[in-house]
Amino acid sequence: MSLVEIKNLTKTYQMGEVSISALKDISLDIEEGTFVSIVGPSGSGKSTLLNLIGSLDLPTSGSIKISGEEVGKLSRKERADFRGKHLGFVFQNFNLIPVLTVYENVEYPVLMVKNESGAAYKERITALLDAVGVLDQQSKRPDQISGGQMQRVAVARALITQPKLVIADEPTANLDHDTAYKIINLMKKMKDQFNTTFIFSTHDPKVIGEAEIIYTLEDGKIQNREDRRAK
Ligand code: ADP
Ligand code: MG
Repeated sequence: MSLVEIKNLTKTYQMGEVSISALKDISLDIEEGTFVSIVGPSGSGKSTLLNLIGSLDLPTSGSIKISGEEVGKLSRKERADFRGKHLGFVFQNFNLIPVLTVYENVEYPVLMVKNESGAAYKERITALLDAVGVLDQQSKRPDQISGGQMQRVAVARALITQPKLVIADEPTANLDHDTAYKIINLMKKMKDQFNTTFIFSTHDPKVIGEAEIIYTLEDGKIQNREDRRAK
């Protein structure tokens, strides 16, 4: 079974009299433990697709299954639970909570979602902060660290609940090229270490090449699929 199974997916936005066809008959399968990139020009439908895979929004038609669950059929509350249990998110603007320390930002999803107690998760936070290279920053607040460090913290936060899938919509758009490359490679390392599937979108040619599977979107359609894994 694929982790993500999408069949004949469409998404149309209705803006008064005008309907915008953002996704047109998308079908794709993503296997567990792969590093996937969605590329395409601005307005091609990348965010729409990632929002649907992240069960943040509902499709207009078609089927979208994550781990066999038809997420488009879940209620709002069920989708929120599903996201909390199975998905992690990394955002373009990092979206860290400014009043919390680095450590507390990574702890937050555990406290919110999993109701986990005890020492086990605390060790997991420390290990993850170490793995992403910000353990020495753990007591600082987001405004005291760099953008690259903030995104490292965000990657740790996305992984702390041990999700099967992490979705990252243009995670490197606010970073310089070198830092962008390092963040994508950090995600790749985390994918190898935890067998977490990552799907990220990007414009940046320097990081596209790091993906194993590359989907190119154009005007709401998949224009190309490239598999770069060694056969
Ligand atoms: P990308 O992320 O590749 O830039 P988007 O998925 O954001 O593309 O947008 C795809 C198309 O859908 C664009 O034409 C965009 O203007 C439109 N669109 C996106 N979100 C909305 C929305 N909430 N309401 C109306 N139109 C939208
Ligand atoms: Mg977008």
